[in-house]
Amino acid sequence: MAQFDRAEAGRIPHACLICAPTEETALQKARSLAAAAVCSGTGKKPCGLCRDCRKAAADVHPDIITVRRLTDDKGKLRQNITVDQVREMIADASLLPNEAAQKVYIIREAETMNPSAQNAALKLLEEPPAGVSFLLCTVNTQLLLATVRSRCEQITVAGEGEDGDEEVRALASAYLKAVSTGDAAQLLRWCAANDGVDLRTASAFIEQVRLLLADMLCGRRKSGGLSKADMLRLVALMDRCARYGKVNTGVRHLFGLLAVQSLPDSGNRG
Ligand SMILES: [Zn+2]
Repeated sequence: MAQFDRAEAGRIPHACLICAPTEETALQKARSLAAAAVCSGTGKKPCGLCRDCRKAAADVHPDIITVRRLTDDKGKLRQNITVDQVREMIADASLLPNEAAQKVYIIREAETMNPSAQNAALKLLEEPPAGVSFLLCTVNTQLLLATVRSRCEQITVAGEGEDGDEEVRALASAYLKAVSTGDAAQLLRWCAANDGVDLRTASAFIEQVRLLLADMLCGRRKSGGLSKADMLRLVALMDRCARYGKVNTGVRHLFGLLAVQSLPDSGNRG
């Protein structure tokens, strides 16, 4: 086994916080770790071939349980993962695995656990039942309680956006630089000068800014004069822009939004 790392040997942390630039990337990593934990193949895990790996890949393995925000009766995602969901998970975690030797809970968008849900999970994260692991996915570890963070091993995953083209990277750093000056007029000029890019570039730019912010929040990149509050505000703003981008909002409108919403209070001054 010495030639394999811990996960490849099927041993994964009991409580692990997976931080990635996007929810998808974090989830992918969590799924791969979970598959390694349940894999019944010999050698490097996940083997990808055994019954457990195939079930994990099809997302139907009974010992890989995903916890996420529920939908309301209109089919809309609720705001939070609730304390009741966490209590259910605690009760379920005390039961033996169904098929595999281990049981894994993947908590998607862990930052959507409200504080009481996070508090309810503390003891479980600190002393999980034998053979049970919890993988918390997030794009922003800072949105979780410090007590939760301190009980988890942290894994940071780089995003695909890092191979993004030069223009997009330059745009993203120029934008953050303009924001960090705190000068509304300068930011407005920058936005007006760049709102002619196409929608693909604009979407890639938003992703890239998110990636840079995630790196800063995870401490992998210098903050460039932005405070934590700035970064959190900008992450939320990028989420909004990404949502607008998906419904084909014009690029000018997106940059207009950036011009007025990027600085604290600049959106509702006067
Ligand atoms: Zn396998």
